[in-house]
Amino acid sequence: MSQGSVPLFWRLKKSKYNLIGTKCVTCNSIFFPPKTLCPECRSKGKLEEFQFSGRGEVISYTVITAAPEGFEAYTPYAVGLIKLDEGATISGQIVGDASKLDIGKRVKSVFRKMYEDGSGGVIHYGIKFEVDGE
Ligand SMILES: [Zn+2]
Repeated sequence: MSQGSVPLFWRLKKSKYNLIGTKCVTCNSIFFPPKTLCPECRSKGKLEEFQFSGRGEVISYTVITAAPEGFEAYTPYAVGLIKLDEGATISGQIVGDASKLDIGKRVKSVFRKMYEDGSGGVIHYGIKFEVDGE
C-alpha cells in the first residue's frame, strides 16, 4: 500500500498521536499541523511526512484557573506555545507544576489522557507537554 492511499482519517489520527507534520523537501519548510501544499513552493513543492522529536521550548504560556465545563477538575493548568526544535510552533497543555514553568523552559511531548466523556465512558487521548529532564 503506498502512502498516498492511507485514508485521511488515519493520517489525521496519526498526526494527533505521534506529533507528525509534513516537510517540504523542496524548500525544507516544516509544518504542523501537517499541510498538503507548501505555501512557498505551491505545486512545485514535494511534501513528505515528518516525525517531530517532540522536544522544544516554551515561548509563552498562560495558567488557566477558570476552566470550561468538563475541565474544572484539571485547574489550574498551563497552556503554552512551544517552539519545537525542528522549527514548528505548536500550542498545547503543559502538565505538571505550573509554578515551575518559565519562558525558555525545555519541554517534551507526552501521550496523555485528555478527558473522559462522562456519558459514554470514552477516554480521549492526545499530545500534551511536560517539563523535560525533571
Ligand atoms: Zn516548499
